[in-house]
Amino acid sequence: MTFLEEVAQNIYHKYGENISDYTIIFPNRRASLFFNTALRKLINKPIWAPESISIEDFVKQQSEYAVPDQLSLVFTLHEVFQKHAPFKEDFEQFYFWGDMLVKDFNDVDHYMADAKPLFANLFEWKKLSDTDFLTKEQLLLIEKFWRSFEAKPKEAQEKFTRNWNILYPVYEDFRNKLLQHKQAYNGLLYRIYADKLLSGKERISDKLIFAGFNALTKTEEAIISEAVKNGAEVFWDLDAYYASKENINQEAGNFFREYANHSILGMTMPSDLPNKILENTPQINITEIKGNIAQTKFLGQLLLKQNLESPEKTVIILGDESLLFPVLYALPENIKKVNVTMGYPLRFASIYQLMNTCLHLQKNSRTEKDEISFNHRDVLKVLKHPFVGNLLEEEAKSLIQHIESNNLIRLKLEDLFLETQQHNELIKILFKDGSENYFLYLKNILQFVHSEEIETTEQEFIAEIYKQISQLEQIISDFDLSLDINAFIRLFNRIIQSIRVPFSGEPLEGIQIMGVLESRNLDFDHIYFLSISEDNFPGGANNQSFIPYNIRKAYGLPTLEQRDAIYAYLFYRLLQRSKDINLMYNSDNTGGKGGEPSRYLLQLQYELGLQSDKIKLQNLNQDPQAAESYPISIEKNEEIRSILDQYSNERYLSASALKTYLNCRLQFYFKYIAGLKEREEVSEDLDAADFGNILHHTMEELYGSVLGEPLDQNKIILLKNDIDKIVRKEFADLYGKGKDVKEYKFEGRNIIIRDVVKRMIAQILDYDVKIAPFTVKAVEGEFEHKISLDNGRNIRMKGSIDRLDEKENTIRVIDYKSGGDEVKFPDVESLFDRDHKDRNGAAMQTLMYSFLYIKSPDYDGEKNVMPGLYNGKGLFQNDFSEKLKMNSKQINNAVLLMEEFEEGLKKILTELFNSDQEFDQTSKIENCTYCPYRTICNK
Ligand code: SF4
Repeated sequence: MTFLEEVAQNIYHKYGENISDYTIIFPNRRASLFFNTALRKLINKPIWAPESISIEDFVKQQSEYAVPDQLSLVFTLHEVFQKHAPFKEDFEQFYFWGDMLVKDFNDVDHYMADAKPLFANLFEWKKLSDTDFLTKEQLLLIEKFWRSFEAKPKEAQEKFTRNWNILYPVYEDFRNKLLQHKQAYNGLLYRIYADKLLSGKERISDKLIFAGFNALTKTEEAIISEAVKNGAEVFWDLDAYYASKENINQEAGNFFREYANHSILGMTMPSDLPNKILENTPQINITEIKGNIAQTKFLGQLLLKQNLESPEKTVIILGDESLLFPVLYALPENIKKVNVTMGYPLRFASIYQLMNTCLHLQKNSRTEKDEISFNHRDVLKVLKHPFVGNLLEEEAKSLIQHIESNNLIRLKLEDLFLETQQHNELIKILFKDGSENYFLYLKNILQFVHSEEIETTEQEFIAEIYKQISQLEQIISDFDLSLDINAFIRLFNRIIQSIRVPFSGEPLEGIQIMGVLESRNLDFDHIYFLSISEDNFPGGANNQSFIPYNIRKAYGLPTLEQRDAIYAYLFYRLLQRSKDINLMYNSDNTGGKGGEPSRYLLQLQYELGLQSDKIKLQNLNQDPQAAESYPISIEKNEEIRSILDQYSNERYLSASALKTYLNCRLQFYFKYIAGLKEREEVSEDLDAADFGNILHHTMEELYGSVLGEPLDQNKIILLKNDIDKIVRKEFADLYGKGKDVKEYKFEGRNIIIRDVVKRMIAQILDYDVKIAPFTVKAVEGEFEHKISLDNGRNIRMKGSIDRLDEKENTIRVIDYKSGGDEVKFPDVESLFDRDHKDRNGAAMQTLMYSFLYIKSPDYDGEKNVMPGLYNGKGLFQNDFSEKLKMNSKQINNAVLLMEEFEEGLKKILTELFNSDQEFDQTSKIENCTYCPYRTICNK
């Protein structure tokens, strides 16, 4: 029987039909809902049901004051604060600690503390004569605080004192101002009511029944005590395991032991405490699992095994709320109904990310000559947001492609409205100048998204964020404030950070998913508690209070120890009535979070584990399902074989394709067989590929203009005059969005890169001056050759040679490399051995070009052919030589190596085309570093 069923049975047996004369008061509304169901099950004839409400609603009923929302309270406090503060503070700066101060004032009143001495400064405190209301222990705590304060550096003292000194007048004025407007924050509301009861100005009903309370505030204690004096009843939900008088170290029972000694509440405590945890609790399963997703998978497996005839008797408790959606996705298909009862942090919602992205789009926008432009990064982020992507579908994709392939950096409106588009409404709403009214800008987006078919949970997030924006708008207009975009973003983020969206489903149906606080007063047969780690439960210290610890403790305001005791109680009471308990935590501490089990788990093991078999520990860190990457290998099926066949007649195999194949067979498959495009991204700055392109194109232009001419030193020096002009043109072609070269402006990193490219080209020409004279025969000349494998298959190979020149009796095959490629390699065999530690891909490529040239009709069979590498790293060294070196010896004539080279080439081509060899992943992880398919491989 659950606690609420016990209460229902108890009072129905006692009061019968007269039960309707009573009001049952619970700590929260959810408990009253479950109580009503429990009561209905007991009664088989029509009677008036009693009123059952939360204590908050009960106090509000007794009050004439309205409770404004938190945002309005902080605004009112800001107004008051400004009057007292010696400095001016903008609202968005004030919000963070204004919110904290409202909570502090709330505590002061909830715990009925005397604010005047509490907020007294050191000077006033020393003069205070009347401290009789404080116990010796309290006095010691306060003195301890002020002593430690005096020991602090002057600067820290001044900083604290500056704010502390005005807190009492601010507190007083704030309360008065609210009361004048018939308003109060919660603590104040409770205090006014409790004071009235204590002073006898008001009498509380005797027909009240309080159930399920723990950790009472002073006002609650006063209200319940006054009611009990008049004859009200109290039902406590507790167990001897933690609440017995003797067990003073068990923090879960701290409050109950205190109430047992209370002059009035003590009378309501049961004389015999139930001992359910030791007598009835079944085996408790504690599982350590690596990774959050692995936890949700494990949960799915457990639920599959469970009988789900009464799903509402099963609860999934989330120590970490961000697990909500992974859990929902991991539930087995046979679970049809789920009720989520928790406050989900709005900051995790996808719509919040979109709002933020749009605000940054606005922030980074520029208006020149009445024309607005946006930064491409913001635009892409907006377009790639799941909401926008889903709503715009193809239009978003084509816009992204348009931006990326044209390398658009700043986008004007004309860039965002393509001819193919239907002038989508959403694009108009997103990409506009929102500066006139940011509230309206965001609200229009929300309205549009909300009207589309999206999931109900997302609708709730949208509705909540819309509400928050509207409230903020109202307040900003009421208080006549103005916010620039930076202040707007700061304030918006601060407000959203603290908002939780209460999910409201059918609370009594289906499997229940909730946070631990929501489980208060409820009992379930099957409990699955996820992420019960120390970080989440109880979690780290959250010192968001302006009132120092010792002062809080002295005046009875809640402290960290109290919070820990409350969490301990919530944990232990879950064990009292369930039949099946599964607790799991994430052992992965990557990123500094997680890893440690909650202290309550350790405590439980310590208390029970040594003497009973009630605890089963297991470790699923090696769960194969949670393994992160799977090997990928592709068999050569019919389709792949037919693509490979095309290399005999339609396609050409290039030297760089072969280099890719030697690096990784799978990478070759992705790029050349499956045709997976490498991601094209907009870059304002040069990336490595563009750097290489500019270098190659410039060299092509320079030497292309003097093809066939014998070049002496002077002619080459003259070529240097053209570098600047050609490089500029190359940049303009790549990044100038089709603009004329003259209009192209170098910006940012491109200025540096331009100078590096120019330096490298000048260095190449300087080297060429040294080795002149020579004659350039071809630039970017294409050479092809059909190679016959031993099995009769012919493979068409092709290569584009950067430069072919003739010097004396030698033809040089030159390859430009902007990187740090080496000219050395051990032997020809190593060039085709993918596992060789010194395999040199650049040397293989240059020799391949030499091979293609030697096989071409252009080669007369007489001259030496010398492969050469102009590599970025070597060019700047004094002893630079472009000549390849095999086993430390320069290669002056590659013709001599060609037989062996062809043999190695045929061998690797045979593997590529004919064998059963699959396209599998490289075993050398360093080959994956710059691979564009890393995300697919999960490398
Ligand atoms: S990531 Fe590594 S294993 Fe995967 S395709 Fe690229 S190079 Fe091959």
